[in-house]
Amino acid sequence: MFSLKNIIRPHIFDLTPYSSARDEYTGKIGVFLDANENPFGSVLPENHNRYPDPHQVLIKEKLAPLKGVTPRQTFLGNGSDEPIDLLIRASCTPGKDSILILPPTYGMYEVSASINDVKVIKVPLTPDYLIDTEAVMRAIEPDTKIVWVCSPNNPSGNLVQGDAIEYLLNNFDGLVVVDEAYIDFATIPSWNQRLAEFPNLVVLQTFSKAWGLASLRLGMCFASEELIAILNKIKPPYNLSGPTQQYLLDALDHAEKKDAMVQDVLAERDQLHRALGELSEVVRIHPSDANFLLVEFKDAAATMKYLIDEKIIVRDRSKVTLCAGCLRISVGTSQENEVLVKALKKFRQNSVIA
Ligand SMILES: *Cc1c(COP(=O)(O)O)cnc(C)c1O
Repeated sequence: MFSLKNIIRPHIFDLTPYSSARDEYTGKIGVFLDANENPFGSVLPENHNRYPDPHQVLIKEKLAPLKGVTPRQTFLGNGSDEPIDLLIRASCTPGKDSILILPPTYGMYEVSASINDVKVIKVPLTPDYLIDTEAVMRAIEPDTKIVWVCSPNNPSGNLVQGDAIEYLLNNFDGLVVVDEAYIDFATIPSWNQRLAEFPNLVVLQTFSKAWGLASLRLGMCFASEELIAILNKIKPPYNLSGPTQQYLLDALDHAEKKDAMVQDVLAERDQLHRALGELSEVVRIHPSDANFLLVEFKDAAATMKYLIDEKIIVRDRSKVTLCAGCLRISVGTSQENEVLVKALKKFRQNSVIA
């Protein structure tokens, strides 16, 4: 049986969090002499002299309905990096507990665990990048606190099986984190629709991809109210800056712009997939539910080097588990994709002559 109390480290479960000035008085109007701010303003033309809302109340009220959750099931962080780190620190005792990841996958789960001296158990995906549920259940140890699932998965691009995720939620007594950084590009609903069913389900999303706000550093985490309350206790009090919050409030009024850009990316992805498929250097293009393609080349190292010489930068994943020969290519604008395809055509000709 899953119990949050068994998963959260006892001293964090019992922690009294820092109480900020903005926690202790939440009114908007008054003479504010409680936070040692500069009363005269800022050195910039626009004023940034007041501390921002530590709980991002206005944002959560606007965001939660868009996501089909409640504000109290919603955590916002400085990138997804922040909830990734907080989830590990909340649940894993350094030198004792472990997390389990499914390579090839996003690198931050392992890095964040390693920074915290938390052991990482690795169970590779199958050759077609699906979860080997039985292998995962066998590899889980008594002190394993989190299983990380990335779906659509980075770098392979595919959605993993929903029934495998559901099996893990039902049979693993720790947290199952589903990282949905690329969910806007996929055709299935988010797992956040099922939070009520699974107290151990945690969903990560981000404003960095579909929303086009990578520079603002905005990650989302959706989970039970109880787990979100724990994350709120241990986050830095003012983890989202005032300007970031203002930008996000404005962005949330333009979800239709996000949807339109997603449609454009999907159209470009199909086009790029077709064009790359015609190149003799390309061995295989993995099916993608995301905004990138994992492409196997006859000679990934030479292709990578050639592209860099052409000032075209893609991600070399050829040293990664199950990704031999593969480069990961983000879908660009039609012009950018054309530049890439043209260059690759030229490379093929050169190599034929050589
Ligand atoms: C890009 C990406 C993120 C987003 O990270 P941010 O810190 O929110 O920019 C999260 N997870 C995966 C798998 C990603 O590929």
